[in-house]
Amino acid sequence: MSLSPGSTIGIIGGGQLGRMMAMAAARLGYRCHIFDPHEAPCAAEVSAEFTRAAFDDVEALRRFGEQCDVVTYEFENLPAESLSALGDKLLPGTRSLAVAQDRAEEKSFIEGTGARVAPWRPVESLDDVRQAVADLGVPIVLKTRRYGYDGKGQSWIRSADGAGAAWDEIGRQPAVAEAGISFEAEFSVILARSIDGDAKAFPLARNEHEGGILRTSTVPAGPEIDALGEAAIEAASTIAEALDHVGVLTVEFFACADGAIVNEIAPRVHNSGHWTIEGAKTSQFEQHLRAILGLPLGDPGLVAGGATMDNLIGPDVERWHDLVAEPGAALHLYNKGEARPRRKMGHVTRIRGNPAS
Ligand code: ADP
Ligand code: MG
Repeated sequence: MSLSPGSTIGIIGGGQLGRMMAMAAARLGYRCHIFDPHEAPCAAEVSAEFTRAAFDDVEALRRFGEQCDVVTYEFENLPAESLSALGDKLLPGTRSLAVAQDRAEEKSFIEGTGARVAPWRPVESLDDVRQAVADLGVPIVLKTRRYGYDGKGQSWIRSADGAGAAWDEIGRQPAVAEAGISFEAEFSVILARSIDGDAKAFPLARNEHEGGILRTSTVPAGPEIDALGEAAIEAASTIAEALDHVGVLTVEFFACADGAIVNEIAPRVHNSGHWTIEGAKTSQFEQHLRAILGLPLGDPGLVAGGATMDNLIGPDVERWHDLVAEPGAALHLYNKGEARPRRKMGHVTRIRGNPAS
């Protein structure tokens, strides 16, 4: 079954991912309805409708669901129990959400599919943290089980006596203690899985982070990453299948001398896939919509030799006049208001080289 143009797509979360999804939906003739607790989320201004309500407002979610033909989400820190009010209309389903929003569940789940993750322990007390240091050695990174993103909710332990300070820094919350990995590079697999289980992956992106925030994604990712590509795509497909995931799924990896290690998953479109808007034959946003609408998946291949996407973080956005004047630079601004430090305000994509065949 597929939903025809003119249908309404509900999007929970009104940030830039929702905004770019709504713009892709409009191109195909679909309407979007944003659900978000904020006053003027940047996705709402490019969408047909907006419900302002809390993510755990079950009654508002139920009404929202009645007004939409399918509902999806643009971020994973949502109460999975409340979203079950949306029933079968929610794609990807609450299983993908529940696994991706809890780092301990996520790591166990990934290990269960046969993929490798960094050595880790769940921790609930300072004693647990000290035990993890004894077991895993240093460096270790503590990450809160829930609500972390862009490096938030993380603290590094670099020597055995740093356990207490790191535990304090993350607010003494249930967390995972994870061995620090010395990787050669980071990369992500972004794939879409359709309702009938067909999966298509985008070319791998090499990702560079600064202070826990994505700075740049580059495609092609380079020979040392591409050598791991087949196994990584296989691992990501296995994870998608095990979740019975419908829509785009992102799997972040560390490329290490002895192979790829899964860092984390996101049950959604991802910052490291923004290059696909200009750089791929189908963008990640359109591909996600195709999957949840029951349409055939599009061609994820490159339109040219490659692409580089740079995030505009905080005051970087002030460079917009230069960027908008630069030939070949595709500038995206999210109109999020104040350019606070560490806030993602926009991005710029540059396409390289000739079309590949
Ligand atoms: P977030 O949800 O904030 O993206 P991540 O777990 O992806 O959290 O961590 C953000 C970044 O921090 C990673 O992309 C990587 O650069 C670095 N990082 C996280 N975990 C580790 C680790 N175990 N070893 C080395 N670097 C890490
Ligand atoms: Mg990450």
